[in-house]
Amino acid sequence: MQAREPAFPGQNMKKLVIIGAGIGGLGAAGLFARKGYDVTVVEKNANLGGRANIFSEQGFKFDMGPSWYLAPDIFEHYFNLVGEKVEDHLDLVKLGPSYRIFFRNNGDPLDINSNIDIDTATFDAIEPGAGDKLRAYLKQSEYQYEVATQHFMFKNYDTIFDFFNKRVMTEGQKLSVFSTMHKFVSKFFTSKKLQQVMEYTMVFLGTSPYEAPALYNLMSHMDFNQGVFYPQGGFYELIRALSNIAEKNGATLRANSPVEKILVRDGKAAGVRLEGGEVIDADLVISNADMWFTETQLLDIAQQTHKEKYWQKRTMAPSAFIMYLGVREKLPSLIHHNLLFSEDWRKNFDDIYKDPRLPDEPSLYVCAPSVTDPSVAPEGKENLFVLVPIASGLEISEAEKDSYADRVLALMETEMNLPGLREKIEYKRIYTVADFGADYNSFKGTALGLAHTLRQTAIFRPKNRSKKVENLFYVGAGTNPGIGTQICLISAELAYKRVHGIKSAEPLRSLD
Ligand SMILES: Cc1cc2nc3c(=O)[nH]c(=O)nc-3n(C[C@H](O)[C@H](O)[C@H](O)COP(=O)(O)OP(=O)(O)OC[C@H]3O[C@@H](n4cnc5c(N)ncnc54)[C@H](O)[C@@H]3O)c2cc1C
Repeated sequence: MQAREPAFPGQNMKKLVIIGAGIGGLGAAGLFARKGYDVTVVEKNANLGGRANIFSEQGFKFDMGPSWYLAPDIFEHYFNLVGEKVEDHLDLVKLGPSYRIFFRNNGDPLDINSNIDIDTATFDAIEPGAGDKLRAYLKQSEYQYEVATQHFMFKNYDTIFDFFNKRVMTEGQKLSVFSTMHKFVSKFFTSKKLQQVMEYTMVFLGTSPYEAPALYNLMSHMDFNQGVFYPQGGFYELIRALSNIAEKNGATLRANSPVEKILVRDGKAAGVRLEGGEVIDADLVISNADMWFTETQLLDIAQQTHKEKYWQKRTMAPSAFIMYLGVREKLPSLIHHNLLFSEDWRKNFDDIYKDPRLPDEPSLYVCAPSVTDPSVAPEGKENLFVLVPIASGLEISEAEKDSYADRVLALMETEMNLPGLREKIEYKRIYTVADFGADYNSFKGTALGLAHTLRQTAIFRPKNRSKKVENLFYVGAGTNPGIGTQICLISAELAYKRVHGIKSAEPLRSLD
């Protein structure tokens, strides 16, 4: 390999190994490589990107994980920090309408446009007076988003006092830290339909509106106020961009390189050993693999900050029952993002969290990127990603998979105005709990990681440094701030702050 000049002459190039090329891992690679570290990323899979994975089959190109590009300002912030512009890497399209919601046994779907005049009229038509309430709600969400991004999300927490500081105590009530989402939403809207509309984003966080702190109503600022975006070519374009940026700054990205052990010498991380025996020495190790896996499988017991017992007591975010479908004709009742809400909302969440089973009456999400992007399906055909949130840890036999797939498709036919859908499918792949476990070493096959319950948020979420092994750090959805593509880029910045002892709460202005 050709030797590189350090970006900061005079400093020794520290060797950093990052385990896993998920968004957090790639994000950290870009930051540290730009700062002048000698960075090697080792990823177990053939593709980089982690859960933001991709595959192609029969002319269809399927994004396997994320599909909602939300909070563009957070992506912009990351790109600026590494000296880049989003528009030089991604061709972002603002979707209009943003998404469509179908309600079970309930005629007309409802579109959210991320346009306050249209959306207030939509709300008023369902519940008189709800339009004004929506305005008030979204003002609050915007305020919470601003406070969270400027004062909370970009901060590493060490002690309980870091979190319950003056700001939280004085603003706590206003910020709704101490109530649940469902209670908060119910104060604004009485109709079940509108409550569901404001609460569904909790699924993105791997939790339920009955458990999530109301602080997360900031999510509505993202989809209603800022809008929903899509990178033309597919979500995987983001992975290409992050990989290019990391490599441009000198990082080495290695696929097909599973780590079997983190090497520890004199209490300090000293590198990794790959399956097959190759050793890569390092001064620092950052793991982007799921934290349960890193702690319990890559370290000896004495080196584990959080042992198996700890993980068994955590609430994991749901897994998912996913179908990637190639459909031989266009489906005019669908737009890019579509949701179907079950009638019995609470039971649906109970089937995921309390009494784990394949939900009888599931809520589900259908992404049809081919509505916006001709490159993801052959001409005249539709590319569908169908996702039903289900409990992590569920064991599902092959026969159950097929019969559940058929049930979900039948539901889509009747409830999403898709008659004859099953006969139009020319490609189908089912992807579920065991696949997440095998592909990403995820605990109990969770799709998203640790749920964002109150007890697993901020100071209560596992920290991004090992307590037992010096120079071992963590990045990704399992640590702060948590789940989500742009949120994992913040976690990369938090790892950077941690390593450099930067204690500030606000986003970094530069890497100096
Ligand atoms: C189906 C689905 C839909 C989603 N939808 C959205 C969305 O629309 N919008 C959004 O913002 N977010 C979405 N998310 C969440 C978002 O994708 C994740 O939070 C984020 O991508 C996780 O990134 P991460 O940094 O935690 O790394 P991960 O993606 O978890 O990657 C970790 C990497 O570590 C690797 N690894 C594990 N063990 C080893 C080992 N021993 N050696 C080497 N490498 C190893 C894994 O293979 C993996 O590549 C979705 C997630 C899923 C699964």
